[in-house]
Amino acid sequence: MEIEDAVKFHGHMCPGLAIGFRVAKIAEENFGTRSKDEELVAIVENKSCSVDAIQVINSCTFGKGNLVFRDYGKHVYTFFKRGDEKALRISRKQDVFERGGGNDLFQKVRAGTATPEEKAEFQREREEKIKMILEAPADELFKIEEIEAEPPQKAVIFQTLTCSECGEGMMESRARVAHGKYFCLPCFEKYDV
Ligand SMILES: [Zn+2]
Ligand SMILES: [Zn+2]
Repeated sequence: MEIEDAVKFHGHMCPGLAIGFRVAKIAEENFGTRSKDEELVAIVENKSCSVDAIQVINSCTFGKGNLVFRDYGKHVYTFFKRGDEKALRISRKQDVFERGGGNDLFQKVRAGTATPEEKAEFQREREEKIKMILEAPADELFKIEEIEAEPPQKAVIFQTLTCSECGEGMMESRARVAHGKYFCLPCFEKYDV
């Protein structure tokens, strides 16, 4: 799996995807290529472009349950194999990515107020940034450390309940109860029962 595979899946090349690609490759080197039995789990602390690279390269996906999203808004990625005591934590070094500024320009381009020259400048900076991310030594971009893995969570099987408003089924752990009836979350919020 190479960067082209990630671009194909994600739909475009961008600095975020490049970050995710480097992270995925570090994990791959550390744990070996993906295998079906010894499944790699990724805990990602953001939902940016970078996570798409991890899904493709490491085969950690939402549907398989080996992609865990924690909404912390941080470029931190933790990988481990189920049953292992150690995990690999990869966090983005902040200073490298703040170099060169470019934020004002980004705001202008986004708002549509950038001149053609500014747009070209933005594109140039962006391409340079992508190149830097893809080529820089891993330890310059990331702090890579071995940490204790979290104990595995027990798989809990939930029953399916039926919403008394819309009639659709939902996992019992997500159901709300009001006036002795079950409601799914959207109905519960919509009708404020
Ligand atoms: Zn992207
Ligand atoms: Zn409902």
